[in-house]
Amino acid sequence: MTERLAADAAGIAHAAELLRAGELVAFATETVYGLGADATNASAVAAIYEAKGRPRFNPLISHFPDADAAFRHAAADARAREAAQAFWPGPLTLVLPRRDESDIAALATAGLSSVAVRVPGHGIARALLAATGRPVAAPSANRSGRLSPTRPAHVIAGLEGRIAAILESGACEVGLESAIVDLTGATPVLLRPGGISRETLEAVLGPVSIASEMGAAVKAPGMLASHYAPVLPMRLGATAPEDGEAWLGFGIEPPTLPPVSRNLSPAGDLVEAAARLFDSLHELDAAAELAGLQRIAVARVPERGLGAAINDRLARAAAPRS
Ligand code: AMP
Ligand code: MG
Repeated sequence: MTERLAADAAGIAHAAELLRAGELVAFATETVYGLGADATNASAVAAIYEAKGRPRFNPLISHFPDADAAFRHAAADARAREAAQAFWPGPLTLVLPRRDESDIAALATAGLSSVAVRVPGHGIARALLAATGRPVAAPSANRSGRLSPTRPAHVIAGLEGRIAAILESGACEVGLESAIVDLTGATPVLLRPGGISRETLEAVLGPVSIASEMGAAVKAPGMLASHYAPVLPMRLGATAPEDGEAWLGFGIEPPTLPPVSRNLSPAGDLVEAAARLFDSLHELDAAAELAGLQRIAVARVPERGLGAAINDRLARAAAPRS
């Protein structure tokens, strides 16, 4: 059962409590209804993918009540501060270097060293974010491959029973997703057009390149996630580790384990495995290299549920590097 909460003080307080407890709550922004989860809680972020039935882990936007809160997680230079000053609260997402002290889960950034942050221009959304007191990851609140929801009924149609609650506050105004600008390089790059036009952005930021016009050289939004790959080669679908291999298990362990090993979920739980995936890869990669191992062997992960997204990520991490 999905609770339908009124967007009053009690509803907002309850929605914030659910988010802090790791539950999923849909809420309106000025762009579309978002499917919110505590971005610092990897299991809650994994639950977003599960509820949406997304076949891939792409990085998610973290939402904040104000720029100060956002910049505690994302490193802002002068340009970022100007953009925030001009367009926040509003339909602009900034991609910035992630600060070392940020506790945003690796699954929320798909293991990248950048974070996408936004302060939505919707008073109730900001009240919810302030009450939650944590970064809230929130992709659109629809099943994967379906249209973005701009009304509570759209959210209910797709996600009833799959999420804890929806904070209902009518139709969204913009109906278009946020414009995403990458400020990690020398020139701002528009990764996704959206609620603010290029011209309006350029009036504040100067020339803005468009990712889709920059050819293969650029990190296109959907491909960005493929940037993260371990240093060591990987062998997928393994039943046991061979000599010189570190081990990344799932479910029951093989009888002998190498000195460097991790298990995504000893119980064989795919949500837990998704929540641990990026941290495990990072840790294993570093430890295996240090131990002089040559490769990471990875146990077979079933294709059902979140297994599809886990396998997609593993396959791309294992793909030959250019
Ligand atoms: P949405 O589906 O609205 O949540 O938007 C997610 C999109 O934001 C991703 O597909 C990327 O294009 C972009 N994005 C999110 N996080 C990052 C990041 N850390 N680095 C670069 N782009 C990001
Ligand atoms: Mg979407």
